[in-house]
Amino acid sequence: MSATRRILIIEDDAALRATMAEQILSGGEFSADEADSAAAAEALLANDNTRYDAILLDIGLPDTNGREFCTKLRRDGRQMPVIMVTGADAEGDVVRGLDAGANDYLAKPFRLPELLARVRAQLRTFDNSESATFLIGPYVFRPSVRLLQEPARNRKLRLTDKECAILKFLHRAGGKFVPRQTLLNEVWGYSSTVDTHTVETHVYRLRQKIEADPSQPRLLITVNGGYRLDAGSHGAA
Ligand code: CA
Repeated sequence: MSATRRILIIEDDAALRATMAEQILSGGEFSADEADSAAAAEALLANDNTRYDAILLDIGLPDTNGREFCTKLRRDGRQMPVIMVTGADAEGDVVRGLDAGANDYLAKPFRLPELLARVRAQLRTFDNSESATFLIGPYVFRPSVRLLQEPARNRKLRLTDKECAILKFLHRAGGKFVPRQTLLNEVWGYSSTVDTHTVETHVYRLRQKIEADPSQPRLLITVNGGYRLDAGSHGAA
């Protein structure tokens, strides 16, 4: 798994889209996929092998309105930052876009470095968001306070720093397989002297807390050489 974060650019103006992609790639920390319509974007988002960290969304698309598309993204449970790209004098669009769940907007024409700066800022905010909550099985996960709440049983589970970081990273992977070595690098750092056994130990403890039957994990699943989080479908809230 590459550490490069992936940005989806949804824009029907081919020249502008190419310029935006070039700008996104220029920083070296992002990769970019492009869609010229909502339908094309849907197809990319449906691909289980790809996960997008942020979306740049044109408001005037050939097959739908960017606002409606944003509403749909949120309804589908997608939480990544969405930056709307609006026409020059479209204040109403901006307000409605933010109402639809967009995180920020850029008015055309914009300075290209501004694009990269906004994406970086939104990702930073998203990663550190105090109010960020995620659903994991029967739990509401609140990383900022290292807490799993289980509303159905009216209880709270406290997580250690590392447990919280593991869960956060697996959640960010969106249900996809994460190798132990990647988890080790992301949670303990590249210069860390610990090895993947440490990861296993922490995952073991985490399972004791969160799994109904830790010997038969249903949330934090072992895949050959790593883990994935199955956050959906067994919620009982
Ligand atoms: Ca357009």
